[in-house]
Amino acid sequence: MATTPSPTPHHNENGTRMSNDRTPGNGDGHTTGTSAYLAGLKPSVRNITSAAIAVARIDELGWAPLGGYPGSDVLWPVRCLVCGWTGTRFYSHLRRARPAIRHRECLPQSEHPAALAKLKERARSACECSAAHPTTAEQVAQAFEAIAEAQLRGDTARLLAELGRFLGPCPATGARAAAVTAHLTASPPSKS
Ligand SMILES: [Zn+2]
Ligand SMILES: [Zn+2]
Repeated sequence: MATTPSPTPHHNENGTRMSNDRTPGNGDGHTTGTSAYLAGLKPSVRNITSAAIAVARIDELGWAPLGGYPGSDVLWPVRCLVCGWTGTRFYSHLRRARPAIRHRECLPQSEHPAALAKLKERARSACECSAAHPTTAEQVAQAFEAIAEAQLRGDTARLLAELGRFLGPCPATGARAAAVTAHLTASPPSKS
């Protein structure tokens, strides 16, 4: 089920208000609504690739995105799947499984491996979602073509649907990230 995460303003531990409005207003004009998947980033092949890999990596580590991927060094609203805590984290820290305590007031660190192993049982090698997610390099290539076409036509609804195929929740998120990586290796994006 592809529920759309709703990016809401969050406060980090320093009380700084987060903003998802970093997308330049003089961009391609078709970014409306895409902040649910990419916060302040254009829906380029490069950004979508980074985001799909990030979504899979944090899923593997027991985190779920609560808003669009903002880049690795911008605070990202996330939920801790070990205990349910919500807050903001940098992907540059999350991807290295830092901090080891996850966050203040999480379960004791000794209980994390068991909790993560339990979460891992949900993972699937194939996507069985009703709205299929790309899990082969060929499907990824087709989905990127669909995104390019949607952008050309200014078809925001189509663009959002295709972004959801790359970045929406899926039990096969690891297979999807592997396919995105394989596509990236086969045809590196020429522009960002
Ligand atoms: Zn936690
Ligand atoms: Zn799926």
